[in-house]
Amino acid sequence: MNAKINLVSKYIFVALLVCLPLSLENCSTDRVELAEFAFNGSTMGTTYHIIITGRPIDAQERSAIATSVDSALLDFNRIYSTYEDQSEISRFNRNESIHPIPVSQKLLQVVAAGQEFCMASDGAFDITVMPIVNFFGFGFKLGENRFPTVDEIDSWLQLTGCDKLEVGDSVLTKSDPRITIDLSAIAKGDGSDYIAKFLMDKGHKNIFVEIGGEIVVHGHNKEGELWKIGIDRPTFGGSPGADLQHVIQLTNKAIASSGDYRNYREVEGKRISHTIDPRTGSPINHNLASVSVIANTCLLADGISTSVMVMGQEEGLSWLEAKDDVEGLLITREPDGSFKEYMTSGFKEYIFE
Ligand code: ADP
Ligand code: MG
Repeated sequence: MNAKINLVSKYIFVALLVCLPLSLENCSTDRVELAEFAFNGSTMGTTYHIIITGRPIDAQERSAIATSVDSALLDFNRIYSTYEDQSEISRFNRNESIHPIPVSQKLLQVVAAGQEFCMASDGAFDITVMPIVNFFGFGFKLGENRFPTVDEIDSWLQLTGCDKLEVGDSVLTKSDPRITIDLSAIAKGDGSDYIAKFLMDKGHKNIFVEIGGEIVVHGHNKEGELWKIGIDRPTFGGSPGADLQHVIQLTNKAIASSGDYRNYREVEGKRISHTIDPRTGSPINHNLASVSVIANTCLLADGISTSVMVMGQEEGLSWLEAKDDVEGLLITREPDGSFKEYMTSGFKEYIFE
């Protein structure tokens, strides 16, 4: 089989597998190629890739679609970006009030989702993790080149936790003026859901939307098949798509991944991950190298994958297995350098190769 890779992302890439004799229109053995419009850009400190297949789309419409997607993503950044000084989240973080703070419905919805992940994961997922993220250099501040003291960790633990923020109908209330939030773990997933809905509402039925590795797919690829998505082997320094653990096939679903091998720093000679365990105030420290989660929305897949990444292989796998309509693949790094995989019982149905 000839695997043509047409898209590379953070942990996941799409391999369009050509030469399969399946037709979308009539399911005969004649291969029907759908027209394809693919475009990409940058957002949320990463890249996005979008593919629309089906009817031919002329240059004028292509440009209108690309422009509206770009502007929707700019709107996203104006709400969620902790790197933008004037974003709504940055203003909220600077607001040192313990009185209810009015926020937009968009920010409120994602914060509410974050709080649900926090409670469902017993605090493994926690949007109040910002001070710890910043200390280690994965936020908007340059990180320290040392490990924190016990006192510093203690002070963060006073400012983190699901109970530190109350979600009202149109307001958020901090329990301490110093509480700050970070939605980076779910903003890309939410953005992918948003852009997918935007395109579907415009009548596009066959779409692939990926922001920083978090993917939503509907309908079929240009060969009229299910979308094929590659899951990287979690090798430090490996380029996306160069070495695959699996190719999965998917439609009308979302997939998101978390990993320890793309975004990390070295501190005092030790490699530290951008995923923080808010319960200990430290970066995760176990052998789970990556998690890929399939769910009905990308927001769900994204929040769940980060939660599992914090929990580690054993706790993460059983937590995932207990969830309906959610499947996952976990890859651990073994002492001899090899990888071992674990999956929920339904995940294998998605495996193409
Ligand atoms: P990944 O794809 O590996 O999940 P993301 O960019 O989606 O990476 O999420 C990682 C980011 O989420 C970190 O850079 C940090 O800003 C934030 N984060 C880290 N640990 C947690 C946590 N336990 N709960 C919520 N957000 C976290
Ligand atoms: Mg994520």
